[in-house]
Amino acid sequence: MKHTIAIIGNPNSGKTTLFNRLTGSNQHVGNWPGVTVDRKAGQICYQQHTVDVVDLPGIYSLSPFTQEEIIAREYVLSDEPTGILNIVDATNLERNLYLSMQLIALGLPMVIALNFIDDCHAQGVEIDHNKLSAVLGVRVIPISARRGENMDELLQTVTTGLQKPVRQPAYLHGVGAAISRIARALSDTPLRSESLPFYALKLLEGDRHVKETVKLPPAAQQVVDSTASALSCHGAEDNEMVLADALYDFIEEAVRQAVKRPEKPIPTITERLDRVILDRWLALPIFACLLALMFWSTFGPIGSYFADLFEALLQTVAPALQNALVAAGASDWAVGLVCDGVLGGVGGVISFLPQIVILFFFLSLLEDTGYLARIAFVMDTLLRRIGLSGKSFVPMLMGFGCTTPAVMAARTMENEKDRRMTIMLTPFMSCGAKLPVYALFAGALFPQNPSLIVISLYVLGILVGIFAGWVLKKTVFQDVSSGFVLELPPYRLPTVHGTLLNMWEKAKDFLTKAGTVIFFMSILIWLLQNFTPALQTADNSAESILGVFGRFIAPLFAPLGFGEWRASVSILTGVIAKEAVVSTMSVLYSVDLGSLGQLLPTVFSPLSAYTFLVFILLYMPCMSAFATIKREMGGWKWALGAAAFQTALAWLVACLIYQVGCLIF
Ligand code: GDP
Ligand code: MG
Repeated sequence: MKHTIAIIGNPNSGKTTLFNRLTGSNQHVGNWPGVTVDRKAGQICYQQHTVDVVDLPGIYSLSPFTQEEIIAREYVLSDEPTGILNIVDATNLERNLYLSMQLIALGLPMVIALNFIDDCHAQGVEIDHNKLSAVLGVRVIPISARRGENMDELLQTVTTGLQKPVRQPAYLHGVGAAISRIARALSDTPLRSESLPFYALKLLEGDRHVKETVKLPPAAQQVVDSTASALSCHGAEDNEMVLADALYDFIEEAVRQAVKRPEKPIPTITERLDRVILDRWLALPIFACLLALMFWSTFGPIGSYFADLFEALLQTVAPALQNALVAAGASDWAVGLVCDGVLGGVGGVISFLPQIVILFFFLSLLEDTGYLARIAFVMDTLLRRIGLSGKSFVPMLMGFGCTTPAVMAARTMENEKDRRMTIMLTPFMSCGAKLPVYALFAGALFPQNPSLIVISLYVLGILVGIFAGWVLKKTVFQDVSSGFVLELPPYRLPTVHGTLLNMWEKAKDFLTKAGTVIFFMSILIWLLQNFTPALQTADNSAESILGVFGRFIAPLFAPLGFGEWRASVSILTGVIAKEAVVSTMSVLYSVDLGSLGQLLPTVFSPLSAYTFLVFILLYMPCMSAFATIKREMGGWKWALGAAAFQTALAWLVACLIYQVGCLIF
């Protein structure tokens, strides 16, 4: 029989680290709750045994409040998993065991991996896992997923010896009896018999989802109702509290027996660091300094050193290729297509690879150390004053990397209105794909202080996001935001492996996009600008298909300062992928690689270049993000509405900046 094990645990408990260790795969690990929102499948091969494993999103309980909980819960209730690997954060034992207790009620074969055992030792906490195992009735194996401690024992158990819990937990306050009573009443329903205590628990809790899916026969329903009202003297609404108390009291007792804490707790490094980093006065300046350092490295001397090196390399390739093509007797247009179209477009984008990689090096460090989560926390206090939830900031900060996963990360939000609003705001955060455009323009028009320009764009994105959120909150999404429950992860040293993996993934994405989307776009743009609408070769690209079309839409952008047809066309291609703005410009201005930078100042003034960047920053996101938004919002109406909202706002802000700028300068 084929075995499938579900890895289940609280957010940030090390599930993905463990999954990667067990299966040898390289899923993204982040010191940050909410990184895995979809389930990921893999395989464990250990001493001739193979089992399938599934990494699920992190959850705190099996109640269906958030999307992740629904995904995880539907999965464990389906027939697919034959066992559960419950990973528990040993430094947060009580809260983590709350989920474990519900899993035990499922009655599936199960093992508890007691993770972060290294951190426990560092804090002087001793956990007697044998005692814990005896109290819970489930095997408990202490591990450190990060250091790979005790992996053999875990692998052995998972592949050969998963066992059902030996008994149901002894809930206190008469809850145990109530659960057995309902479970007995459920015994002639088609529900999986070992999971009856779980269903009983949920029915007693008044869980609507379970009630709807289970469809009890009237007799059983009566038992549920009478037991529920007998349990609580204040009416059925309170049962959730009664059950939570019963669970927690049991857990507390278990922890009291199994855990020895030091007399005087050693203050953790995290506590000591947070005293400074989250200080009321220091928090924002520290954030600003880190941002400045990040962009200074990306666009300042370090970034430009690597960018120049890379460009020099590409510049030796281009003439060599051209000579080779001419020598091989290729026709003029073929040489033009390859050198101006493909090399110009794709090469123009690829030359920004070093800067992308540097930026992602920093973003990855910020994320892995646990700092990014703290920015969300700091911003929360600010945002709450204007009625927004700081929780929106988590997906929004992920948007600095790429909008697509960030939009998906909004699933962590319980409040549906907040979730939709966050999805609409996330694209305002400057994603990595916009970086080549900034780098090109900032380098060409603001050579003295390119990083300052880029920082201003990032900050502008955040400010517009906050402003738009405030407006939406007052109009479309009137509602009270739910409180902020993002828990701050401890600071951790990033692993070299994790950081390199992150950078490599980003570089790979970027190169893949350059080799596919940008490649075909460049060819298409080259063709469209070399033929007239009557399909004759165009002598002057303004007469070409693109030229005619571009001049038609260009007046739209005239009030923003860049009513030039080539700029308008690149804005359109930017909808496919933001990097395409750069490749389209290289092809359209058909200049040698690298000299686009010298040409731009003759077309743009510093002011119009800046408003162009502002428009690129704020207008609708790329196709892939748009498709994700459509899926997550559940419909074209929402997706198109969001895109129109973003584009209109982009136009307004850019126009405002240009018009005010014209008055001043
Ligand atoms: P997930 O959200 O449950 O998938 O958790 P991740 O696997 O993404 O890990 C969260 C963070 O905890 C990462 O920074 C990991 O490097 C770190 N981590 C995971 N397991 C351990 C461990 O056993 N010890 C320590 N010290 N850190 C760990
Ligand atoms: Mg994960």
